[in-house]
Amino acid sequence: MIFIIMAGKIKQTFTEKVRRELTCDGCGECCHYVALEIDRPRSKRDYSDLFWHLLHEKVSIYIGHDRSWNMEFMTKCVNLTKDGMCGDYENRPVICRQYSLDNCTRHSDGKYYLHKFRSPEELKTYLKGRKVDFEFKRRRK
Ligand code: SF4
Ligand code: SF4
Repeated sequence: MIFIIMAGKIKQTFTEKVRRELTCDGCGECCHYVALEIDRPRSKRDYSDLFWHLLHEKVSIYIGHDRSWNMEFMTKCVNLTKDGMCGDYENRPVICRQYSLDNCTRHSDGKYYLHKFRSPEELKTYLKGRKVDFEFKRRRK
């Protein structure tokens, strides 16, 4: 099962004073991507599928602070205006309404993840570091 989310959970808390001072200022950063929580990979086939996803442009995978695995697609919302505002603010989806300034991608210094992989090589390096056996044995001819 997958869940639509906008960013991973971020381990960061703000005081009320700082929270009041947080603004969007036409940032629009969180309107430039969609992300899906994916099943944690467990088999060589799972890893192979993730490598395949990462071969595609503007696709990355990240592990959130809650250890969830997520797939991220960099693609801009059609409602985002040139000045970084929502062009249909009154009718924006629930997920946009629920997104909180105090744990958004900008105000968490962009570090909404523990690990992020933008290519198969980055993910392989991570897996090798954890001694995960992800490679299929090649058959001898
Ligand atoms: S919620 Fe955060 S990431 Fe989204 S537009 Fe506002 S400041 Fe930028
Ligand atoms: S609907 Fe508006 S707030 Fe939601 S992602 Fe699009 S531009 Fe951003």
